[in-house]
Amino acid sequence: MTLERVADWVANSERTLVFTGAGISTESGIPDFRGPNGLWTKVDPKLFTIQNYVVDPEIRRRSWQARLDSEMFDAAPNAGHRAVARLEALGVAPVVVTQNIDGLHQAAGSRDVVEVHGTVHEVVCLDCGMQEPIGPTLDRVRNGEADPACPSCGGLLKTATISFGQNLVPEVLDRAFEEAEVADVCIAAGSTLSVTPAAHVPRIVGEKGKLVIVNEEPTELDHLAAAILTAKTGTALPALTDLVESALAREPG
Ligand code: NAD
Ligand code: ZN
Repeated sequence: MTLERVADWVANSERTLVFTGAGISTESGIPDFRGPNGLWTKVDPKLFTIQNYVVDPEIRRRSWQARLDSEMFDAAPNAGHRAVARLEALGVAPVVVTQNIDGLHQAAGSRDVVEVHGTVHEVVCLDCGMQEPIGPTLDRVRNGEADPACPSCGGLLKTATISFGQNLVPEVLDRAFEEAEVADVCIAAGSTLSVTPAAHVPRIVGEKGKLVIVNEEPTELDHLAAAILTAKTGTALPALTDLVESALAREPG
């Protein structure tokens, strides 16, 4: 029943914004941070602060090593990512704002993905700003360079992701907020909605329109939600998208 009502909201929306977090990718084998089996239970959070990364070569060595072992480069999109791409194809949700760095929305076919926390598929030089695909850098690590330097200037290389203590890219954040301003429905999927400023995106939509939360656990914005679907994203999003498609077929134009 709730799912049908939500599908009608989405089908009749001016513009639905999809906002996603680490939870949408757990069914692709990538652990989240704050879920029951989250990374916080396994990894030293120190690895993720920019201040430590910049001063400590040992932290950089461990970070690159962790990237080599990361499941992110072999992961495939799941039914949740594919449903999000289908919402775009149906013309109701043209943009995804994601906190994820794994690139799985694009792999599933979403064409306009705003990656507020960056991407693991590229590296950036913290000194000269050079940015390029991560492949060659990972090859260098694999071949024994513990802490590969920027090929252009010799400066510090890092994945093009936002670490703790690091500012978000202003243009990317602005775009995310612009999308929140023009959306009247937001589907927030697989996120605790606790990491700011990213979580302001669903909050902005929730304060003036309809916020739909799809998450297995309670979130920080449950009090703002017009509907809460306590379910796996890989199950709920395809079911919702099927219903949106039927609703659109019933109401031509
Ligand atoms: P989070 O880890 O804080 O929360 C994930 C939420 O998703 C939890 O509440 C969990 O219960 C829920 N969840 C997990 N699997 C689910 C499923 N299959 N269906 C429904 N709900 C599910 O995630 P967050 O709020 O996105 O914040 C973590 C930060 O860490 C993000 O900002 C992101 O940058 C980064 N991160 C990214 C990835 C990735 O790219 N895949 C992975 C880990 C962390
Ligand atoms: Zn450089």
